[in-house]
Amino acid sequence: MSQTITESIWHDVRNSADLCIKCNICTSMCPVANVTDKFPGPKFVGPQAQRFRNPHELSVDDSLDYCSGCGVCSQVCPHEVKVMEMNAKGRYKLYQEKKAIPLRNRLLGRTDLIGQLSTPFAPLINPLLNQKPIRHLVEMTLGIHRDAPLPPFSFETFRGWYKAIHHKSPQRKLSAKRVVFFHGCSTNYYEPDLGKLAIAVLEHNGFEVIVPEQVCCGLPMLSNAEFDAARKNACVNLDSLFNYAKEGYPIVGTSTSCTLSFKSDYLHILDLDSEEARLVSQQTFDICEFLLDLADAGELKTDFQPIEVEYPYHAPCQLKAHNIGLPAIELLQLIPGVRIKLMQADCCGIAGTYGFKKEKYQIGMDVGAALFEQVKQSESAVALCDSETCRWQIEKATGTRLIHPIQVLAQAYGYHNK
Ligand code: SF4
Ligand code: SF4
Repeated sequence: MSQTITESIWHDVRNSADLCIKCNICTSMCPVANVTDKFPGPKFVGPQAQRFRNPHELSVDDSLDYCSGCGVCSQVCPHEVKVMEMNAKGRYKLYQEKKAIPLRNRLLGRTDLIGQLSTPFAPLINPLLNQKPIRHLVEMTLGIHRDAPLPPFSFETFRGWYKAIHHKSPQRKLSAKRVVFFHGCSTNYYEPDLGKLAIAVLEHNGFEVIVPEQVCCGLPMLSNAEFDAARKNACVNLDSLFNYAKEGYPIVGTSTSCTLSFKSDYLHILDLDSEEARLVSQQTFDICEFLLDLADAGELKTDFQPIEVEYPYHAPCQLKAHNIGLPAIELLQLIPGVRIKLMQADCCGIAGTYGFKKEKYQIGMDVGAALFEQVKQSESAVALCDSETCRWQIEKATGTRLIHPIQVLAQAYGYHNK
């Protein structure tokens, strides 16, 4: 399937610069501008610089590369200026003209390749990931910070489990009610138990779960200015998902980043405009959003076992960009005994691959400091967050175990990690 790159969407983003009234709300809310002088803030590198970002001239300001892409600016702008989207495109232009994309950034964007090469050797590789001399060497040679959170690889991939075991299991639910599950790279290579529990929850609610062919959503490439590579992945996923979307099947994911890519980034940053991209966008749901919709319709099973726990919960920036409120909180409060304490901090600082980079690691840690303190003060053994890289960052910084909200729901239904 060939996807059209649409100038009209690019114009929407570029022209939204004219809506800026210089109120500076975005700058006051930008997590990065609040902790470092290296980044002048979203108004400066976004709508202000955009006026001088002539397609035929060199980019005006390299400080743009310190934008983490968290998206807070676009969410808080009262005039709907698409600041984060503008910055992502500005970064693409910057790297096209002035800089070679570092090998480190290309590697961080190749999540499928890294997972495919590493999971078969997980028992050998995992013990090395936290060896100080090795991490120093990796920092010196590649520029991945020695203290950045590198989660252990799973020896068994989620797809391996699904194809070899679950798909053939007589217990597998077959139903006229079907849902498509996009597991993404983190569930496949690092957290397969999360995918297994997501399937258990969906099947418990009467759905047959389809796991389609898929590749990385492309967001790690997009945020590292590799738009062409990200578009290739986007087209593979759209090819795979479109027919299901046309059948009216919902597409759900446990990764807020993957689902946001389908809902918005393919259209508004990669400029892929087609019937396929629009339909897949409409049919995609965050898994908690999907289950809360079921609950609102009176169709969610509520045979919950009580869990007497208060969980700290961090709502990741990528989830807020969905504009769906905080469905995990409403959903989990249906479980008798569960109490959720919403952390009052905006960002954990990892922002996908941003906080892994040597020159940006400390900025990420400073951004997340308030959140880390709140999680520590909660003295809880387990905290909740919907986004994988945020979970890894918070867990590394606080020592608290982080899980996805759907794992609590699964537990309440009587399913546990295997
Ligand atoms: S919040 Fe919006 S309108 Fe205000 S300065 Fe930022 S981009 Fe401009
Ligand atoms: S995307 Fe985040 S880091 Fe970048 S300018 Fe907007 S608020 Fe700041």
